[in-house]
Amino acid sequence: MTESPPRAWAEIDLAALKQNLHFARERSGQEVMAVIKAGAYGHGLIEVAKALDSEKLPFLGVANAGEARQLFDSGIQTRPYILGATLPAEREEIAARGWTPCLCSFEEMEHFDRLGQNKPVEAHLALDTGMGRGGFLPDQLGSALEKLKSCSGIKLTGIGSHLPVADEDPEFTQSQFELFDSLTETIPKQSEPFHIHLGNSAGFLNYQSRSTNLIRPGLLLYGISPLLEHQSLIQPVMSLKSRVSVVNDLPAGHGVSYGRTLLKRDSKTAVLGLGYGDGYPRALSGKNTQVLINGTLCPLLGRVTMDQIIVDVTDLQDCQAGDEAILFGKDLLVSDLAEKAGTIAWELLTQITPRVKRIYR
Ligand SMILES: *Cc1c(COP(=O)(O)O)cnc(C)c1O
Repeated sequence: MTESPPRAWAEIDLAALKQNLHFARERSGQEVMAVIKAGAYGHGLIEVAKALDSEKLPFLGVANAGEARQLFDSGIQTRPYILGATLPAEREEIAARGWTPCLCSFEEMEHFDRLGQNKPVEAHLALDTGMGRGGFLPDQLGSALEKLKSCSGIKLTGIGSHLPVADEDPEFTQSQFELFDSLTETIPKQSEPFHIHLGNSAGFLNYQSRSTNLIRPGLLLYGISPLLEHQSLIQPVMSLKSRVSVVNDLPAGHGVSYGRTLLKRDSKTAVLGLGYGDGYPRALSGKNTQVLINGTLCPLLGRVTMDQIIVDVTDLQDCQAGDEAILFGKDLLVSDLAEKAGTIAWELLTQITPRVKRIYR
């Protein structure tokens, strides 16, 4: 007896991931911290980390100690960097394992100083230049650096800040780059290397910095550009797929799915084995959503249900149970789907549920 194949799966193209990384490196001329938080944006934390571990990156960006621990437990050599303020209960483990936190407050600084008395904690300083999510304000930078002089338990190895509107507000973002450059240019390099970083995907694609030597792309590594004009330069990494379970002939006026969307014509419909229980958003219902079957775009009919969706295959030459359907991928961008669903690609990708088997190529 052989194991049944999954009804919905995500093919992850690790070669495309690496190509996107190489593009980021070449285009920026800087080192890259690959942001792999939230299970590498739904692509699989460990598999993505393993694929990147040989790339000699200075850091892998994670959200918390739990994600850093998964990397450690899997033998990943690249150093985890914790994006964002740490919880007090996470800090002992972070210090002991040599993961890199970014210091967001004097309280965090004092705690890591105590934890680093035997072996200094290598840490970055977080500046808040507009994100409002933690970090020292520009006028606190002087006192933060002064305080660090008395912290023998901390070795400062970098400084960073974050962009809240890199894909929305060029004027503000440009002023943020200028502010960050002017602040960091005055800082004595306290270690070799000393990493200075500001750009996320949209930030490094569209702005130049005089001071930074590291970028922190996330979405772009997974082959989706926050700015459509750069989409052709990268390769989508994930393709979400499912299979036709049954093809039905239904008369005009017949209802389809919950809420009974009425058919406008005699139709051939195909049922696919995936729904919002797999992370395919219910909000895509009634939004002119399409799926690809045998190379043809087929309209979604009626509401997305938990485990199944129904599509119109009336105009398809040939469609049978077992045929493969592509929900998003290289020819149907997850960012376009996200827009139809009233959300963003970051959210749609991270919401693909564990039921969807990840298959690596
Ligand atoms: C998530 C995150 C990133 C990556 O952002 P993308 O827009 O996905 O490139 C970079 N920096 C920080 C601090 C983040 O939290």
